[in-house]
Amino acid sequence: MALSLDAWLGQGDPLEADWSGHVNRLAMRGQLGAAGDLLLDLPALAAPYACEPDTCTPGRRAPRTRSCCADLDVELAPAEVAAIEAHLPAIAASMAPVDPRWAEGAPTWQDAGTLSRPGKRCVFAVAAEDGLRCGLHRLEDADGLPRGTVKPLPCRLFPLIVVDLGDQRLLTAVSRANIRNGAPSPRWFPCLRGDARRPAPLAEGVMDTIAEVWGARVARGVRKAVREFTAD
Ligand code: SF4
Repeated sequence: MALSLDAWLGQGDPLEADWSGHVNRLAMRGQLGAAGDLLLDLPALAAPYACEPDTCTPGRRAPRTRSCCADLDVELAPAEVAAIEAHLPAIAASMAPVDPRWAEGAPTWQDAGTLSRPGKRCVFAVAAEDGLRCGLHRLEDADGLPRGTVKPLPCRLFPLIVVDLGDQRLLTAVSRANIRNGAPSPRWFPCLRGDARRPAPLAEGVMDTIAEVWGARVARGVRKAVREFTAD
């Protein structure tokens, strides 16, 4: 069973920053949307985005380029560690034919709750012809498992960021405005630089994840708010 957002926020290690200034600035500029109980950072969710792994995979990418599956530390909640551990035989059987790092059995896949990166990419990142692909995502699809059964929530969300404001939550994303709050710079990631072949508003590119995590009604609300914002 996939870890819920509530459980993840309770177990995880959220970005430590005071987001109130950012939220106030959005509100003053008319850039703060809402969908259900969720506040929306409309400029971040409307920014150009397209996931094209061949542009960020080590060995084929341009200089000064990074990949979420090769370069970012992915910290897991304890329940996510337990879920991967429970599925490790199936994961190892699925990874072995496509990834030499798994040929001799499961390598050390985590260190104190952070995914390991042997060979300078995530231990679950398969080097496919068109770039890095998530072996956990692939296993879920192949075995008909609900998304998030083993794929960690931070990976499902990237480049989205969920900020717990106490009585509300803000849905935002990796963006220049969020660097000061601890987010990585979007300039490292081709998917966020606006130079992808078919960029679309970021929210559209991650709409499946939004629907999975928050439900179809909130997803429709996010789509409507972002469309109205970009039409202004
Ligand atoms: S678990 Fe999957 S999505 Fe997350 S960093 Fe590793 S390969 Fe990428």
